[in-house]
Amino acid sequence: MTKIWIKKSDDELKARVFDALARNVNYEKETVFGVPGSRLDEKVFHRDATFLKDAPFLSTLMENPNHIGCHTLELSEPFFEGTQEIERELIEICASDIFGGEPGQQDGYVASGGTEANIQALWIYRNLFITEFGASLDEICILCSSDSHYSVDKAANILSITVAKIEVEEDTRSVTAAAAGDATRRLVGVGKKYFIVVANMMTTMFGSVDDTKCYVDAIRSAGAEFRVHVDAAFGGFYSPFSGGNVALNFSNPDVSSVTLDAHKMLQAPYGTGIFLARKGLMRFAVTKEASYVEGQDYTLIGSRSGANAIAVWMILMKNGPDGWREKIMLLQERTRWLCSRLDDIGVAYFRHPNSNIVAIRSQSITREQAASHWLVPDNHDNPAWYKIVVMDHVTAEKLEPFVELIQARA
Ligand SMILES: *Cc1c(COP(=O)(O)O)cnc(C)c1O
Repeated sequence: MTKIWIKKSDDELKARVFDALARNVNYEKETVFGVPGSRLDEKVFHRDATFLKDAPFLSTLMENPNHIGCHTLELSEPFFEGTQEIERELIEICASDIFGGEPGQQDGYVASGGTEANIQALWIYRNLFITEFGASLDEICILCSSDSHYSVDKAANILSITVAKIEVEEDTRSVTAAAAGDATRRLVGVGKKYFIVVANMMTTMFGSVDDTKCYVDAIRSAGAEFRVHVDAAFGGFYSPFSGGNVALNFSNPDVSSVTLDAHKMLQAPYGTGIFLARKGLMRFAVTKEASYVEGQDYTLIGSRSGANAIAVWMILMKNGPDGWREKIMLLQERTRWLCSRLDDIGVAYFRHPNSNIVAIRSQSITREQAASHWLVPDNHDNPAWYKIVVMDHVTAEKLEPFVELIQARA
């Protein structure tokens, strides 16, 4: 799948980032009078630290470029062109190399997180239905599974549109075609005409992956209008590398936008959500009143750190596509091993075969055992499930004693 995502050495990364910084404005050497920004406070963040010359990410943090706006569109603020170009490359890697888009046919930006990227998507579609179809707010409805992330509810609240969550099957964690059909007919019956489908590429609690087909078929046969957003905040840097056969990407003509979170499986600093959308959609989120920003503002967030984009780009480039696939293969293998140990001792759990989340039924583990290993419940008052997320630090060496502990459950 690779076009521009190519593994780079430390020296190559360093050269590219320092070259980009050299093409941003330099607050010290140039006369930059008009922007309310500068480097980080030198009394606190000392610039003479010798390691900085070998630390491109920290150097970018110190230089503090502002990536306000969306840089895949024609016009952007000229002050930070150097580092914005790296962000553009990062968006292109995510959209075309990882998410199957045609080169140059998607826009996007580094958002504060998956929450913002999801709100951005739903904001765009709400405005699209209003301006292109003359929709009223109460005719627009978000459609997703009951395992969807609560940021969807947040967005519905902010945007004053309703959200309909279709109950998943208890054991498969998926929405059936029958349930999607029933829900859609009921919603159309109460006046909903425009649907925003949120399809999950790994749900937060179960790692389950949705099939867009059940929603899309139901809406088409009800004769309503729809757009599909993929919430890959959890799975965006995992599922495309762990196999399985889901068309939750731009190769699927029904999919228009995607949310990813680099601060989850990619181990990037917080503040690295990624929003991707097919060209032509960002304009539905433009704030024309942002007249002091060159190129205007097409994003929810406003000012944001350019260092975040650099961090994500560096992680992807250092690993390269093969290195990243290998890392995910290792996590997959470890997750498979954990599941086989749980099978050995008769513990009930859910695991999607292409995911690194293992959700253990609360009957199979005591509250104290779960708490002692920081397992996360689906619900703190009355947990039905506790999840394990198998990451770098969740090694077989640490998992084996845990398995032995729950084997001895009361
Ligand atoms: C984590 C998550 C989000 C929200 O992301 P934040 O980065 O915490 O804002 C949205 N959707 C899913 C599926 C998630 O796992």
